[in-house]
Amino acid sequence: MSTGSIQNTVSSSEALFQLNRDVAANQLQTYRSNNEPVLMTSLSGMPIGDKVYSLTAGSRGPILLQDACLLDELGQFNEEKIPERCSYAKGTGVFGFFQCTTDIGSTLTRAHFLNTRNKQTPIAIRFSRFSSELGSSDTIRDIRGMAIKFYTDCGNFDLICNHLPVFFIRDPILYPSLVHSQKRNPVTNLFDYDAYWDFLTLRPETTHCLVLLYSHRGIPNGYRYMNGYSVNTYKFLSDDDNISYVRFHIKSNQGISSIDPTKALVLAGLDSDYATRDLYNTICINKELPSWTVCVQQMNEQEMKNSSYDPFDTTKIWPKTYYPLIALGTITLNRLPTNHFAEIEQLAFSPANLVPGIELSQDKMLQARIFAYSDAQRYRLGKNYAQLPVNRPLNPIANNHRNGSMCLNNQNGAPTYFPNSFHGATTSYRFKESIYPIEGGNIARYECSNEQDEFSQAKTFYRQILSPDERIMLARNLSKSLVLTQQFICKRAIENFSNVDQDLANDIEHFLNLQRPTKMEDCSVQTDLERKI
Ligand code: NDP
Repeated sequence: MSTGSIQNTVSSSEALFQLNRDVAANQLQTYRSNNEPVLMTSLSGMPIGDKVYSLTAGSRGPILLQDACLLDELGQFNEEKIPERCSYAKGTGVFGFFQCTTDIGSTLTRAHFLNTRNKQTPIAIRFSRFSSELGSSDTIRDIRGMAIKFYTDCGNFDLICNHLPVFFIRDPILYPSLVHSQKRNPVTNLFDYDAYWDFLTLRPETTHCLVLLYSHRGIPNGYRYMNGYSVNTYKFLSDDDNISYVRFHIKSNQGISSIDPTKALVLAGLDSDYATRDLYNTICINKELPSWTVCVQQMNEQEMKNSSYDPFDTTKIWPKTYYPLIALGTITLNRLPTNHFAEIEQLAFSPANLVPGIELSQDKMLQARIFAYSDAQRYRLGKNYAQLPVNRPLNPIANNHRNGSMCLNNQNGAPTYFPNSFHGATTSYRFKESIYPIEGGNIARYECSNEQDEFSQAKTFYRQILSPDERIMLARNLSKSLVLTQQFICKRAIENFSNVDQDLANDIEHFLNLQRPTKMEDCSVQTDLERKI
């Protein structure tokens, strides 16, 4: 065999190997195919002669402080990480556009991007897992986040959704405790099932979210096959000053698909980045771009007042029978980031980012989030996080904020105070918020529900939405997790679930009895992964 034919055999087997890999796995190969080698430089641009050996005094001598190349190498490496998000840490993101598909938007909101038919608005979207850490598995039972940044002509609108229509709690004062109870025990550094179920069962309003989370929708089959729900209630202000209240639903055009717990367990071991890989490869191959329909449910002021429960309560849905979905447009995802850290890890969302026509409502969770998110971004990214390219709005910024770490913009020398006489940024009454009359009352810490309220929607879900097989699956999934907590907490959980339906409580008890050891020698230690799924 000639040398030439050996080379041919090698290169064709290499080509075959690459063909068998997905596009994400071939990222480096794709780079090599599209780029020539470049000369390495220091941070200041000086070409570098050698980056394999440190500068030493003699071949066995100590390293010299003058080796700026080594100092940069180590110093830069030490500061590669920024604090991970306290919640929704593990995630991935891509870019795309929103296209308005209706004219009726203008009767609802004066926000141009939602009311101008065929208008396209660029978006960034970040998918994530609520209680995750960076590096944890994509297939664990958990709420998924779906945060969308709309780069509109009038500033950025950040819509931060979850894949379930309700959340565990409705009062933000409980949020840090909720998250702590789902994170590592500070002594053992392990996930703690006593803490998890203790907190959740002490707050019965979590029951609705729990029955959704432990149903088959609790482990979505990647990010393409799940819906997003704003959970929070926003206010829409129309062109003729009409106020209405809305909840957003982002409905997957791929349909809903979930992973069964056994497959999820295998995937958590084999491919903990399952959802991340799926999204990357789908968009890279560019055949069927993932898309969602953006809808709202709407309530007017009177309906708000007449509602039998608090419509701002984030543990409740608005029944579709009374508040049907109104489609406003479509989201299509078509572009991958080229720098995950710069464009996704530093992609900063805040519900405080609104546009004219979309306002905050009295929803307590939403109100707290406008502080919590912006504050977290300042901590993670610094005061000037909004100047990063991925966070910058399309329209020019004009205000009196200046300086601070990594500031890049002094707004062309405009005055730094307001009001001023030198053509500095000015305000317009056209963009004033709507006026909302408040009802008299006492300042106090109010509980906003009654016991009946906590379970009625979970009851509807259990009896009217789930099939008999899905009800059994829900009980089995709950029991697999509950078996790992102490009996007194478990008893409290069963009591809560009996308020949803006695059958659910009985089925959970039945599955718990099957799993509980009857003899000491039957006791086995379940892995942490099994507990979470
Ligand atoms: P509807 O019959 O009008 O809506 C039922 C909705 O349930 C479906 O449209 C679907 O929401 C959703 N659903 C179906 N299976 C699951 C599941 N395993 N996990 C989560 N959601 C599921 O009834 P109502 O609007 O009166 O709601 C009844 C109950 O349905 C609620 O209490 C709530 O638990 C649940 N639900 C309601 C939603 C709503 O916005 N009304 C949304 C999601 C759940 P979708 O069409 O959004 O996929």
